[in-house]
Amino acid sequence: MKHWNKLSKEAIHARVFGALSNNIDFYEENILGVPGSHLDSKLFYQDAPFLKDAPFLTALIHNPNHIGCHTLGKSESFFRGTHEIERELIGLCAENILNGEEGAFDGYVAAGGTEANLQAIWIYRNYFRNEFNVKNSAICILCSTDSHYSMSKAANVFDLDMALVPVDEHTREIKQDELENIIREQRAKGKSCFIVVANMMTTMFGSVDNADVYARALEASGSRFMIHADGAFGGFIYPFTNPANTLDFRNKYITSVTLDAHKMVQAPYGTGIFLIRKGLMQHANTKEASYVEGEDYTLIGSRSGANAIAVWMILMTYGKYGWNEKTTILLQRTSWLASELDKLNIQYFRNPFSNIVTIRSAHVPEEIAAKYGLVPDSHHSPKWYKVVVMEHVLIERLLPLLEDLKQYQWERRLAETNTINR
Ligand SMILES: *Cc1c(COP(=O)(O)O)cnc(C)c1O
Repeated sequence: MKHWNKLSKEAIHARVFGALSNNIDFYEENILGVPGSHLDSKLFYQDAPFLKDAPFLTALIHNPNHIGCHTLGKSESFFRGTHEIERELIGLCAENILNGEEGAFDGYVAAGGTEANLQAIWIYRNYFRNEFNVKNSAICILCSTDSHYSMSKAANVFDLDMALVPVDEHTREIKQDELENIIREQRAKGKSCFIVVANMMTTMFGSVDNADVYARALEASGSRFMIHADGAFGGFIYPFTNPANTLDFRNKYITSVTLDAHKMVQAPYGTGIFLIRKGLMQHANTKEASYVEGEDYTLIGSRSGANAIAVWMILMTYGKYGWNEKTTILLQRTSWLASELDKLNIQYFRNPFSNIVTIRSAHVPEEIAAKYGLVPDSHHSPKWYKVVVMEHVLIERLLPLLEDLKQYQWERRLAETNTINR
């Protein structure tokens, strides 16, 4: 997509209703061969008067199926109108957000970040097997100990080994010397191909990996590798707060990226976004999907077209500058929280481009964590609690937390003084 300019409400409505009118209409047309229909009409009637002002709800009850991948080859012609919106959304994310070249990417709206990460690992496993004739036992998933648990899930599902690189306790950066040791160990175990997942903001810390550290070490070792960036959390904020970042498609080593619109974009659940450079998606083609026009390159199969429409509508309502403003505000609030914690000498981790502040559990008693819904790194033995500065996390909402943390600090000091004096 050349420009990501904000659209008026009227233009968005016209576009979505126009797209729906290019799909088949289960209400009006004689479509006899698909195992799909509009939503059950006893509950979801299409003639509710408010629907004419509600393009997303209308899309939901029309229930288009976006099965397959619409950026390559053929797609189900029944739903070509709304497929076009998804194609535009994929272009917007790859080109306008992640700085890729025009028309050079495939992708689709996945169930979530988990599926998008699995999709990447599935593609690279098959790529190594197809291109270099290796077995699973020669392939290793490589990521940091701060990575999301979906990588363990992928290792299990795709029957691959995984190696975790430790991170520095304070900076959360991957330890380079340990990375080199791990690569050496894995090569000794017969691994020659590595699937790297670099984090564009981790779930717990908002920390960001340097993909070039992985690339240099793997190149030096003479290994084959592919790098996927997991931006499930950070993909809709980090590229805006840090435009000079090295985790987008300007980096030749990054071949695919996960984004999650149901996190920072506040889209409905079911809106992970998977993006990959052209030429690789084919490794996930299931040719046996012969009843699907255009076959299927995705893990999920049937999926709701309304999800893609929701994300497209949100991003087009803001436009590039509006989205920039939104992320700037979140970042400012986060910086404010960080500076207040500094004043109280409370230890925390924060990447300066991120909207997550992760506080050492020593400063946070369980009651405070529970009262404010702070999420621990581990429910068994919390070492950290995080605050995620989302739209509803206003400074007014942060003030009582800071007050309570201050009170706790004061009580603890008092208790310590009493013990010493006794
Ligand atoms: C949330 C998250 C995921 C998983 O996303 P789901 O949408 O919950 O499947 C993967 N990676 C990171 C970094 C995340 O924050």
